[in-house]
Amino acid sequence: PAMLADRMSVLGTETAFEVLARANALAASGKDIINLGIGQPDFKTPEHIVEAGIKALRDGHHGYTPAAGIPQLREAVARDLNTRHGVTVDPDTVMIMPGGKPTMFFACLIFGQPGTEILYPNPGFPIYESSVKFSGAKPVPYRLSEETGFAFSADEMLSKITEQTRLIILNSPANPTGGAVPKEEIDKLVAGLQKWPNVYLLSDEIYSQMLYDGREHVSLLTYPEIAERVILLDGWSKTYAMTGWRLGFSVWPKEIFGHAEKLAVNCHSCVNAPTQFAGLAALDGPQDAVTDMVKAFDERRRVIVGELNQIPGFRCVEPGGAFYAFPNIEGTGMGAKALQTKLLEDAGVAVIAGTSFGAYGEGYLRFSYANSTENIREAIRRIKQMLAG
Ligand code: PLP
Repeated sequence: PAMLADRMSVLGTETAFEVLARANALAASGKDIINLGIGQPDFKTPEHIVEAGIKALRDGHHGYTPAAGIPQLREAVARDLNTRHGVTVDPDTVMIMPGGKPTMFFACLIFGQPGTEILYPNPGFPIYESSVKFSGAKPVPYRLSEETGFAFSADEMLSKITEQTRLIILNSPANPTGGAVPKEEIDKLVAGLQKWPNVYLLSDEIYSQMLYDGREHVSLLTYPEIAERVILLDGWSKTYAMTGWRLGFSVWPKEIFGHAEKLAVNCHSCVNAPTQFAGLAALDGPQDAVTDMVKAFDERRRVIVGELNQIPGFRCVEPGGAFYAFPNIEGTGMGAKALQTKLLEDAGVAVIAGTSFGAYGEGYLRFSYANSTENIREAIRRIKQMLAG
């Protein structure tokens, strides 16, 4: 309608939520649906974390917390980053957020406006482009290609930086491709960024604990040359199977932190208190549930890649991290969106068209393997049958 603000017409969405709704509707009507669409662990939140949330409710933690989060959780995040990445982070720069997503939105609102440019991966998490556009900045995609295992090319990224560039969004391990960027490529990027001291980086490391075949996560925060212009995004959703709790965190450059905090006060006041205590138990408690989940994802990864490569017309590179496979489906002669629809409606398998993650996703489908091996095998059997028939 004409009375709406112009910016509403550029706001995008995340197709995974639409596919999930359709899959649920089909399931409710009695259809047998295997969901390889939505990107969330099929595990429950570990029991000790749930108990900590319940205890916090019982203990009377019902009020507002500081906008940036309870101090003990901000300190625990700093400790966690020190343990995992060997970096020293000032807890005063840690912000507890209602999930990973709001950090993207905040970063784009803080840096983007008409006349500026923000770089982001394509194919990539759809909320990047959406947030960039909403801020008024010009969205500048950089390509992730199958040939490099969907790792970004530092040279390509650097070639897209201009005087107008304010922010570069990076994501490794990546959604939707499962790509993990090798350290040499990050080194190269960091070296090239010395020429651009005013460009900030939003590093989405939400899958940092999901890496396979002995790969080690390389956090952008570990580069002292650029650490002062890195915004780190991470959280509990994927690592601790807590997507519905809405809990994430970000680390901000000191001089930017106050702006993020002000946005939090304007938008959500704070993350709900019991969830923050649950998050504290997650970080301070035993980590074997995480290890077990990652092991399960790794097993499923091997199964799904092997199976996808058996489908006529499909070709799938091995993903190095996260829980997604991103097969090339050009050999089927079908477009990504058409195949997505057909698979859901005719075969009862929910997957997401690569185009939901940007134009370069044409010719690809995203499979989330956060599902049982049994379901994965059955889904592939159905796909083969459908394509043959
Ligand atoms: N970043 C990436 C790359 C993701 O894939 C997701 C969720 O799918 C998020 C961030 C958002 O996570 P959250 O549910 O914590 O907002």
